[in-house]
Amino acid sequence: MSTNGEQNLEQGNKAYAASFTQGDLALPPSQNYAVLTCMDARIDPAAAFGIPLGAAHVIRNAGANARDAFRSIVISQQLLGTTEVLVVKHTGCGMLIFDNETAKGLVKRNKGEAALKEVQDIDFLTFSDLEAEVKKDVEWLQSRAVETGIRFTGWIYEVETGKARKVV
Ligand SMILES: [Zn+2]
Repeated sequence: MSTNGEQNLEQGNKAYAASFTQGDLALPPSQNYAVLTCMDARIDPAAAFGIPLGAAHVIRNAGANARDAFRSIVISQQLLGTTEVLVVKHTGCGMLIFDNETAKGLVKRNKGEAALKEVQDIDFLTFSDLEAEVKKDVEWLQSRAVETGIRFTGWIYEVETGKARKVV
C-alpha cells in the first residue's frame, strides 16, 4: 500500500503535469536571488514570498540555518549567478522549542545508547531568540561571503498571519 506522501505525489503530479507549460526555463534563476527558509510544513515559499517558477533558488533546512545552507548558497552564487540572499526564519519554529541536550535525550530514550552515539556530535543548531538569530545568520553570511556585492537581508515570517517582515 502506498503512503500519503506517495499518493499525494502521484495524484498531485498528474494534475500538475497535465497543464504544465514551463519546460523551457533556464537553469540560472531568472531574478538572480536565493531564499533560505525553514523546512516547516506550514511555509509555502513560492506563494508566501511571491516567487514565480524559475525565478529564485529556495534553500530549506530545519531553522533556515545559514551554516547548514552554506554549500547551496555558494553554488547558487558561484555557479548560477545569484546576487541576493533573503534569510527567512519564522514564528513557532521547532528550533525554538528544544536544545541539543533535549534532542539527544529524546534519541537516547527512544532508540537507546547505541543510537545516541550516531547523533552525539551533531549540533542541532537550535536557538532561543528568533530576531537575534535572523541577525546573527545574516551577519555570518556577510562575514563569509565569497562573492563581492551580494545583498543579504533577514526576515521573519509569521505562520499565524502569513505576513513577512524585514528584520535586517
Ligand atoms: Zn522552522
